[in-house]
Amino acid sequence: MGKVRVRIAPSPSGRLHIGTARAALFNWLFARNQGGDFLLRIEDTDESRSSKEMIDVIFDSLKWLGLDWDEEPIFQSKRLDVYNRYVEKLLESGNAYRCWCKPEDLKRKQEEAKSKKITSRYDRHCLNLTEDEKKKLLESDEPYAVRIFIPGGKTVFNDLIVGETSRDNSEIDDFVIARSDGRAVYNLAVVVDDHEMRITHVIRGNDHITNTYKQIQIYKALSLEPPRFAHIPLILGKDRSKLSKREGATGVTDYEKMGYMKEAVVNFIALLGWSPGDDREVMTTDEMIVSFSLERINPANAILDIDKLNWMNGEYIRACDNNKLIDLIRPFLIEAGLTTHLWINSRWEWMLKFVAILKERCKLLTDFAEQGRYFFVDKFDYEEKGLNKYFSPESAGYLKRWLDALNSLEHFDVGNLETSLRDLCGELGIKPAALIHPTRLALTGTTKGPPLFDLMELLGRQECMRRLERAVDFIEKGYKNA
Ligand code: GLU
Repeated sequence: MGKVRVRIAPSPSGRLHIGTARAALFNWLFARNQGGDFLLRIEDTDESRSSKEMIDVIFDSLKWLGLDWDEEPIFQSKRLDVYNRYVEKLLESGNAYRCWCKPEDLKRKQEEAKSKKITSRYDRHCLNLTEDEKKKLLESDEPYAVRIFIPGGKTVFNDLIVGETSRDNSEIDDFVIARSDGRAVYNLAVVVDDHEMRITHVIRGNDHITNTYKQIQIYKALSLEPPRFAHIPLILGKDRSKLSKREGATGVTDYEKMGYMKEAVVNFIALLGWSPGDDREVMTTDEMIVSFSLERINPANAILDIDKLNWMNGEYIRACDNNKLIDLIRPFLIEAGLTTHLWINSRWEWMLKFVAILKERCKLLTDFAEQGRYFFVDKFDYEEKGLNKYFSPESAGYLKRWLDALNSLEHFDVGNLETSLRDLCGELGIKPAALIHPTRLALTGTTKGPPLFDLMELLGRQECMRRLERAVDFIEKGYKNA
């Protein structure tokens, strides 16, 4: 076999959902691993469901994931003539025939079969017309569909993931390859395109296996060599049920808006059914390319576990360069109304420290805006639970002493803050926690967060003192927000 050529063939539906993104990734990894080509085909023959915006979403999603394609994309909507030429060929060779049956008659026959509990098949009424009858109908300009003739026997193929699969041809039926309005149907278009694009491997979801039998019959009828097929397993929800509309329909670019890093999404999607054969989970795309093989795709259904994606995203955040991280969280901070581009750009060193102290705790890029809100905004309520636990007239007394100490601190940095707090606690005869907890609540409004002295250094002396004074005031005035 020559150079590997694979493709992804999304129908524009307004988003590139997780199943298609995974098929795209597996095709891309396979192509890059084999030194082959990864092509893009837009299956946009259903005009009512395709628009430029929807097609742009596909391009943007693939680009976001870093799945670059070779050659110009193919649009099926521009190839209707090509498909019709193949339909003509099949009619000429006698592998297809015209069918003048009216939809209502076909429907009636289908319902009859259903009531008798037998599988409905086309009864070849039009195949069995006499030559005279066919000629008359053809001359009458009566619209007709074109059906492929499926001979007896079995359709067998050796799937690279599923193994050998077969279906009795009687179950395939003489299906329509061109509708009465002259438009070729999906399965014919796929075969024509895969052939003309010189596709060597068709890697797609196993919900397409039924189509594969039909497509193999079209290849046979056209005397063409079919490509190799690799059908990847379904993706199920965590409870092993079919993906719910919400999870399944989530578009790849929605993950970006939810605060996921593309590297994490790619890594996570790659592991939906594939593994490198050892216990590695976090991998770069280059590592994935090197280890990728179709044999290592598990034929069992894959489970979509969002908790795992969250964990993985956290791993990527921790490993991410802090400069890059600032740019990644920038849109979320601005969207939350916490800051501006100008501010971020002019306080880069501060921002580097901000991401450094928060990244350990963040799973999503959006977490920086949520968990780090108090760095930008000084108006916040004290968390109820913490308030009852850590604020009291006694703690207000400690905070006042702490304020004095902070005021006279020579350098307001982590080391000095720590020594100062320990010294003061020693003097007061209290445990450090008795001061640490009220301080954190006073400075952040919450009971959890990054190491206290780091966040104090980052907030700065003035801001820390202002917030501590406010907390003292709040306690002394009987817990009323000023
Ligand atoms: N348009 C099909 C889909 O979106 C792709 C079929 C194929 O890969 O052959 O599922």
